[in-house]
Amino acid sequence: MVRFTVLASGSKGNSTVVSGGRTRILVDAGLSCRELFRRMRLAGEDPETLDAIVITHEHQDHVNGLAVTARKLGIPVYFTEATHRAWMRWLTPRRQMTYAQWLEQCRKQAAERQAEADAAAEEGEPDEPEAVEAAPPIAPASETAREQPPSRKEDPTWLPAVECFEAGRTFEIGDIVLSPFTIPHDAADPVGFVLTAEGVKMGFATDLGYIPPNVKAQLRGLALLLLESNHDLEMLRDGPYPWAVKQRVLSRVGHLSNEAAAEFLENGYDGQATYIILAHLSESNNLPELARMTAERALNGKASLLANRLLLAGQHEPLSSVCL
Ligand SMILES: [Zn+2]
Ligand SMILES: [Zn+2]
Repeated sequence: MVRFTVLASGSKGNSTVVSGGRTRILVDAGLSCRELFRRMRLAGEDPETLDAIVITHEHQDHVNGLAVTARKLGIPVYFTEATHRAWMRWLTPRRQMTYAQWLEQCRKQAAERQAEADAAAEEGEPDEPEAVEAAPPIAPASETAREQPPSRKEDPTWLPAVECFEAGRTFEIGDIVLSPFTIPHDAADPVGFVLTAEGVKMGFATDLGYIPPNVKAQLRGLALLLLESNHDLEMLRDGPYPWAVKQRVLSRVGHLSNEAAAEFLENGYDGQATYIILAHLSESNNLPELARMTAERALNGKASLLANRLLLAGQHEPLSSVCL
């Protein structure tokens, strides 16, 4: 059985657990680790059984709890290379190092750790000997830190493992097949996904300014569609956001309005999904009932008892797991 659990959706944090076969992955980690774990347990998912985290793009509402969660669980994180770079720049804006230098440093640190482990094993030492003879620091901590490359504990970008994928290239994590595709959004290299587990296809399409043909082509034959329905156009125009932010949201690399989502559901969508989950709803410029009504009107004629059940993902509590 495949389970799809939206833990949170919206500009304050996005995260979804997908489990299929023997594999469980987290798509985005936009809440704190503590809150992610709390919501997973609330939804009946055990955080300790997660196999990997996959990131759609580097915006804060998708990566907020990423490093802490990955470290706590000791699991790999999958990004596109450009998203990984952008995420690192966001965490360490003053880093005096190129990406290539950083990768080289990681390789060296891993080799050093391995060498230490090998030496300890040969000498039969315990893994972490007590630091009885540690030399006193030569310089104040701040100066030492400047001279030495950051250790895994000091480096905010340190992750247990980083795996890179590319939009347009399908890859697998355990029993789940992932097909990432490019979406129009103002991030370094944003992607949506089609995930397939046990023959069930699930589509992720949030954080996109509009739905271009390549995205439409991906969102076919899905059993579940997570679709952005970010704002009501009138509420956004008359709402509290500053003009520049309104322009950003409305732009071709911003967010999908209720009206644009409905236009897709009416004219671009194949009507196949058992579930449609409206997602990334704005708390300032939308109302759940408005989003629902607009989508329902568009689905009119497509809705049946068996297909196109419409759900709304929220910001403050997890949506009950959808079993497929
Ligand atoms: Zn977002
Ligand atoms: Zn975004």
